Amino acid sequence: METDNLRIDFDDLIKQIESYNATRVGLQLPDGLKFRCSEIIDRLEKQGFQVILSGSASYGACDIDVSLLEEVDVLVHIGHSQLLNIDRIIYIPYFIEYSLNFDEIKIEEKKIALIATIQYAWKLKEVKRELEKRNYEVELRRGRNMAFPGQVLGCNYSALKNSNADAVLFIGDGLFHPVGAAIYTRKKVYRYSPLSKEFEEVRCEEFLRKRLNTIAGIMYSDRKGAIVVSSKPGQKRLKMAERLKKGAEGSRSVDIIFTDEVTPSKLSNFPYGYFVNTACPRISYDDAELFSVPILTPQEFEIVIGKRDWDDYRMDEI
Ligand code: SF4
Repeated sequence: METDNLRIDFDDLIKQIESYNATRVGLQLPDGLKFRCSEIIDRLEKQGFQVILSGSASYGACDIDVSLLEEVDVLVHIGHSQLLNIDRIIYIPYFIEYSLNFDEIKIEEKKIALIATIQYAWKLKEVKRELEKRNYEVELRRGRNMAFPGQVLGCNYSALKNSNADAVLFIGDGLFHPVGAAIYTRKKVYRYSPLSKEFEEVRCEEFLRKRLNTIAGIMYSDRKGAIVVSSKPGQKRLKMAERLKKGAEGSRSVDIIFTDEVTPSKLSNFPYGYFVNTACPRISYDDAELFSVPILTPQEFEIVIGKRDWDDYRMDEI
């Protein structure tokens, strides 16, 4: 995360806090921005507010510190845009200023869908106009619960639902989201990184090969597993866990674990041969190698128990 990109309009923030008649203010930041906490607390305390800082992780807009929210009048949540319908939260998103080198963007398909993560999505309308000047037909749709058109999350690709485009252009860093978009749409996906100015076509075959190998490893073993449910407000899928457990009856016995954080250390003492993660999908995909046993998504577990076909592999979405 480029840390100097967080701009806070303190006048506006103070007005928003006052609109709640608040005196006690909670402050929650993601790890990459926690170093800014003292500066924000100082500014708010000078205005007479009492500030309590959240010590919890904050992985996304799904991850609201609801325990702290119970103790304060309002919670200032930094780094993400609104996702959940929870009262008394002020969101301060994190945007990266950027420009594109359009000479680098060479897409043979003329009809493209445009997507980005929140840090870059705020500028997609401008990117769309520039692409249209270069004779592309550009689809820019707002997904379910998203603040900006074209915005995607690791658990939400709905901006691409029923897309009529022939290819997808992802603006941003890392391969996780464009690989997810390729699996979601089954279309060609390109990535442009405004930071490194790199442009490439993204392949999902290696990602799929690893995931399918993991599924096969569980399917052909008699290891006992557990379905893991997180208590985080935007990740809690207890009903889904119960449905999966019921669906597995007759073929596999699985237990259900309820926990705040889904981390290797939280799960390491349990005697299971694999886990099914119903919390943030990125834990299953990005952190899989940190766990001592395989960690599947719900859709992957459905393949294991014969409720989904292999060729109907889907990204997990919340
Ligand atoms: Fe991001 Fe994961 Fe939360 Fe979705 S569930 S918003 S991918 S942290």
